[in-house]
Amino acid sequence: MDEPEYLPLSWLSQISYCPRRAGLLLNERVWEESSDTAKGRAEHERVHTQRIEKRGDCVKLYEFTVYSDSLELLGKCDCIEANKSENGCHIPTVDFPVQLYPIEYKHGVVRDEEEYKIQLCAQAMCLEEMFDTEIPEGALFFISSHRRLEIVLDESLRQQTRELANELHEIRTKLLLPDAVYSAKCRKCSLKELCMPKVKRTARKYCEALRNEASGEIEEETL
Ligand code: SF4
Repeated sequence: MDEPEYLPLSWLSQISYCPRRAGLLLNERVWEESSDTAKGRAEHERVHTQRIEKRGDCVKLYEFTVYSDSLELLGKCDCIEANKSENGCHIPTVDFPVQLYPIEYKHGVVRDEEEYKIQLCAQAMCLEEMFDTEIPEGALFFISSHRRLEIVLDESLRQQTRELANELHEIRTKLLLPDAVYSAKCRKCSLKELCMPKVKRTARKYCEALRNEASGEIEEETL
């Protein structure tokens, strides 16, 4: 039997933003950097240093790898706060039981965006599975404004996370490219030139076929 493919957890936020965007990124290996994505990456890299900080009964783990066998996802938590709690769980390098509290860093100012909550929820679900514990809440930390937004990880958010993880795997295994649905999100999307969301489906398919043919010719020429 083939090994299951664990997909990057962070791509849940892509599919939550737009299924077609996830399809383009996953199956067509397309990535166009916009000023937004570049800024986000630069700010993200600043906090991406794997380390552990211990201060009394509180431990902070940065860049902690997480995974879930049930969601078949793999990723990293920007930061996990682990506070001493008699009813908590045991994690490596900490010699007392702790309650876990994941924190996802985002660039810009506070925004209550669904895709961020989904990503955070998936991280918490991974940690729950890894350490047999319960994580009722976490937070988004907005780097530019230094503000924290508490997120309750309720059953409806968890169900949405499971459904999006399934959808992401389906796009991957069946090599699907969902149709474009033009919305306000398209204006901020770094893939809009390639996606052509306003172009009719038949015309778009024709352009995609031309593009694939052209890239095939380029590859052949470089052999
Ligand atoms: S341009 Fe719009 S439809 Fe196309 S991938 Fe981006 S958000 Fe999705």
